[in-house]
Amino acid sequence: MSYTCYYCNQVSEQAHSITIYDKDGVEDRLELLCDSCYEDWLLELKG
Ligand SMILES: [Zn+2]
Repeated sequence: MSYTCYYCNQVSEQAHSITIYDKDGVEDRLELLCDSCYEDWLLELKG
């Protein structure tokens, strides 16, 4: 099974699910990221 990355729209075999929060910090939805975008997203979280 393959997945479409939420950020770059590339199809990836491996997907990581992340939680998107809205501007009030409320859990909004789940999205899927490819490996490289997931790494970027983790770095962004850590600041
Ligand atoms: Zn991606």
